[in-house]
Formats: sequence, C-alpha cells, structure tokens
Amino acid sequence: MNFGHREDQLLVRDTVRDFARTRIAPNADAWSEAGTFPLELLPELARLGLLGLAVPHEYGGAGLDTLTIALVLEELGAADGSIALTVAAHNSLCIGHLLVGASEEQKRRWLPPLARGEYLGAWALTEPGSGSDALGVRSRAVNTGEGYVVSGTKQFITNASLAGFYVVCAGGVERRLTAFGVARGTPGIAPGKRERKMGLHASDTAQLVLSDCRVGFADRIGAEGEAFADVKKVLDRGRIGIGALAVGLGRGSLETALAYAKTRTQFGRPIADFEMIRWRLARAGTQLDAARLLVHRAAALADAGRPFTADASKAKLYASEAASRAANDCLQVLGGYGYLRDYPVERHLRDARLMEIGEGTSEVQRIVIAKDLLQRAS
Ligand SMILES: Cc1cc2nc3c(=O)[nH]c(=O)nc-3n(C[C@H](O)[C@H](O)[C@H](O)COP(=O)(O)OP(=O)(O)OC[C@H]3O[C@@H](n4cnc5c(N)ncnc54)[C@H](O)[C@@H]3O)c2cc1C
Repeated sequence: MNFGHREDQLLVRDTVRDFARTRIAPNADAWSEAGTFPLELLPELARLGLLGLAVPHEYGGAGLDTLTIALVLEELGAADGSIALTVAAHNSLCIGHLLVGASEEQKRRWLPPLARGEYLGAWALTEPGSGSDALGVRSRAVNTGEGYVVSGTKQFITNASLAGFYVVCAGGVERRLTAFGVARGTPGIAPGKRERKMGLHASDTAQLVLSDCRVGFADRIGAEGEAFADVKKVLDRGRIGIGALAVGLGRGSLETALAYAKTRTQFGRPIADFEMIRWRLARAGTQLDAARLLVHRAAALADAGRPFTADASKAKLYASEAASRAANDCLQVLGGYGYLRDYPVERHLRDARLMEIGEGTSEVQRIVIAKDLLQRAS
C-alpha cells in the first residue's frame, strides 16, 4: 500500500500545522484554564475549511479525503486536544452522520451552515445507562402520525452546551435507534449539566435533555428504527480521527521532551546523553510511528472504498494507548517540570486518556478486532 502523500495533502497538513503552532498552541493553556471552548476561533477554523472537512464542495465544505483529515487532526492534536476534539466531534460525528444518512434535501439544509462555522454541531448517542451497549438506550421517539415526540437524557455529549445543531439517536422499539436532526432552540431540547473532566478542559461536554421534543418527519435521518447501521459507519470513520488525534497528542509530548532533553543538564551532561532517557524517547517515537501507520492504513482503506472497520479499531486502540504511554514517558523525561503546567506534557497526558474511552473504549475495540480475526480464521 502506498502511503506517499500527495502535494495537496501535504499543503493542507502544512497550512494546519502552521495555524496550530501559531494560533492554537500558544493559547492552549489559557483556554484550558478558562475551561471553555474559545468560540471566537470558529470563524478562523471555518476559513481554513476545518468545520466542513469531509463535506463536499457543493455543500460548502473542503471535500477532503479521510487520509487528509487524519493529517489535519494529528496537527490539531499536537497543539491542543480540546480544539482537536471539538473539531473531530463536529466533523466526524455530527456531520459524519449527515454524510452517511441524510437525504439530499437535508444535506442542502443542514450542511452549509455547519461547514461555514455558523455554529458547532454535536452528536448524541450515549445515555446515562448506555455507553458501550449503544442499543440499550432508554430515550424514546414516539411516532404520533404527525411526527415524533422525543424524550430522554443524552450523556457526555461533546459540544452540547455550544452547538446550534444536534444529531440525536433515540430509542423507540426495543434495541432499535432512530436518528433526528434537531436545531438548538427547538422547544423541548436543551443542554443539561456540564461535566467537569480530568482533561480536555476547553472541550465542552454536557448532557442533552429532551422532554417531549416535537420533531417532524422531515427531520428524521434515515428510516425509523434503522439508525444503528449508520451509527456504526459514523464510528468506524470517527475512530480513525480519534487515532490521528491521539498520535498528535503523543507527538506534541515527544517534541517537548526532545527539546527539553537536549537542553536540561544534570551531572554535567545533557539528560539526552543518559541511556534511560533515550529508552523512553525511543519507545515513544517508535510506538507513535507505528500508530500513525495504522491510522493511515485505515484511512487509505476507507478512501479506497474497501472494508476498514477492524483496521479503524486497531488504529484507535493502538494509537490511544501509545499516546498515553508516550505522554507519560515524556512527562518523566521532564522530571518535576513535567508535572507543572508550564509545559504542555501533563495536559497532553490528561487529554490522551480520553482517547482510550471515547468513540468506543479499548475493550470495545478489542471486541471488534477479535470478531474480525475469528471470522477470517473460520
Ligand atoms: C469527554 C467525553 C466525550 C464524549 N463525547 C461523546 C459524544 O460526543 N457523543 C456521544 O454519544 N458520546 C460521547 N461520549 C461517550 C463515550 O463514547 C462513552 O463514554 C464510551 O463509549 C463508554 O461508555 P460508558 O462511559 O457508558 O462506559 P461503559 O459502557 O459503562 O463501560 C464501563 C467499562 O466496562 C467496559 N465494558 C463495557 N462493555 C464491555 C464488554 N462487553 N466487554 C468488556 N468490557 C466492557 C468498558 O470498556 C469500560 O471499561 C464521550 C465521553 C467522554 C468521557
């Protein structure tokens, strides 16, 4: 398989790298301290096409392929996990579901304002009682003959407090899901409790509460009770994005640790001379490279129109765990300074931990991978 990147892919990567290094990284700590996503960044992200990454040009997006999107999310992740996760949830989850399941009329209605960055999008699947078992939802969408009345509480929804548009997956019939597009301000839908998290402080996470929210048939995405097939497609592609974001977080830590190891002296020598420091740097560098290769292979398969479900799970599983390990190794390289907020490594470590949980935990990825292996072996 050829991983040589095209000129246009490298141009996008370098443009985003430059933006991430000059506009995002220098502010990441302040945004994290403030604990909210900087909404003033939206027009700038939109101008770079980062709010309509995979949206075809005809709907006002950048029309990028999956591999280019992986390059973009790695660059954002290296600078700031919160901004990267906000962009990933908006693109891979909310817009991703529309690209997979929305009708032509719905795409024309919903995609352009999202791609223009008029507002953020959010995707609401998880509930307080159902995470890994996504079909165990307790929310209900009741078909009244004139539309739907949707009630329930969605949990852990990225961008929920800020979004102007939600894709909501609700139950109805036992272990079936129906998806809806719902605009903010629709009576009966409102963000609920904002969560306080270990990391990703500038990424908004909140409940989304629906109480007798009336949604028209025109706003149902796909067929009634059939949304789970679309959800799986959304998550397959989303996992490539989370893998890329994780590689970025690990890389951000490694870049800091490399620079530090060369300049910090102890016992009269730069600590980079010490074998045990080199061992940590070598492990982080090798595992992040391996993770990137898995992410790019999954993305290349997706772009070639070939099956990539297990490849996306392998990429997400390995990259998220490699990122946590790399950030932890790099923190150790910085010694006591690694534990301070003066350097981004402790933030990357806290942010990386979520990548092992969101969009399917590592255990769920192992279930997907083992199922694929066993099917191939039979
Ligand atoms: C910061 C953040 C942002 C998020 N953003 C979104 C979002 O935008 N939209 C959205 O819908 N959701 C979102 N989520 C939810 C996320 O996808 C879930 O947290 C995740 O899927 C796990 O579900 P859970 O937390 O309910 O854990 P559970 O499913 O309750 O799992 C608990 C533990 O049991 C393990 N487990 C569960 N089932 C099995 C099994 N069969 N075999 C072995 N082990 C198992 C899990 O791996 C885990 O270790 C977000 C979560 C967080 C923390």
